[in-house]
Amino acid sequence: MREIVKLRCTKCEKHWYTTMKNKRLHPDRIEQKKYCPRDREHTVFKEAR
Ligand SMILES: [Zn+2]
Repeated sequence: MREIVKLRCTKCEKHWYTTMKNKRLHPDRIEQKKYCPRDREHTVFKEAR
């Protein structure tokens, strides 16, 4: 059970990535540190629905 989710930057809230997640392993919203080209640094990305 894998589905496509959006990860949105919590700093600028403009940039986002799409990623795949396993719903069974991550039933809740996921958070990941990723590089945001807008902020030019690594920020926390949260799952958006
Ligand atoms: Zn950002």
